[in-house]
Amino acid sequence: MKYCRFDLNGSTHYGLVESVAGSDEITRLLLQPPQDSDGDVEGLPSRRMDRIPLAQASLLPPVQPSKIVCVGRNYREHAAELGHEVPQEPLLFFKPPSSLLPPGGTILRPKVSERTDYEGELGVVIARRCHQLTESDDVRPYILGYTCVNDFTARDLQNKDGQWTRAKGFDTFCPVGPLVADGLDPWAGVLVETRVNGDVRQSGNTQDFIFPLDVVIRYISQIMTLEPGDLIATGTPKGVGPVVAGDAIEVSIEGIGQLRNPVADQP
Ligand code: MG
Repeated sequence: MKYCRFDLNGSTHYGLVESVAGSDEITRLLLQPPQDSDGDVEGLPSRRMDRIPLAQASLLPPVQPSKIVCVGRNYREHAAELGHEVPQEPLLFFKPPSSLLPPGGTILRPKVSERTDYEGELGVVIARRCHQLTESDDVRPYILGYTCVNDFTARDLQNKDGQWTRAKGFDTFCPVGPLVADGLDPWAGVLVETRVNGDVRQSGNTQDFIFPLDVVIRYISQIMTLEPGDLIATGTPKGVGPVVAGDAIEVSIEGIGQLRNPVADQP
């Protein structure tokens, strides 16, 4: 199952996405948001539409989360490259929903930062309300699907502030998309790659998570109730680095697709 969110003639829709002759096309309009499906998106009422190639659609962020919960330093080699110890428990922070940016949207570098970094990550979309899961709870029914996230970061402000709300929270700092897909198995390993202007800068695999998804979701659910549609960014692999105006960042995840965003300076 794959779905996207898009604008069609001035209205916002969710659409089912199918591979047709090797390329993704939007084939059906969903008549309810996928986060209302309790995990069964294909069982939602839908109607046929004139097919639109995904690449030609006016895509929007495929999620409308009440919160975006992010995991910091979830890959050993990334913790090491920033000079940090491996955390003993998942390290959590938020990005505000106002930071969401659609595929193709321009990331704006704020004037108050001199160093802004890409962070390509696997995103997890929550299927159903999730509260105080324990060791015996299977987390998989709580996962609606997966998407690409760029946890864009003002690195100098992150180091200066000590806490990360400003560094992670600017408008446009959370590109996400192009779609949500199930059928991935992050426990078995999913390749997460980031390119800048076409050059590969990050090439990680989710099998190298310090805290696997079940540990992360249970841990978060012990603190706060996760709602359907909430987004979890699972941490970035090694290879983070700065970008400047004129660069373009692509986060690619097998089974999902490619999230591409240009970078510009805030006017
Ligand atoms: Mg990150």
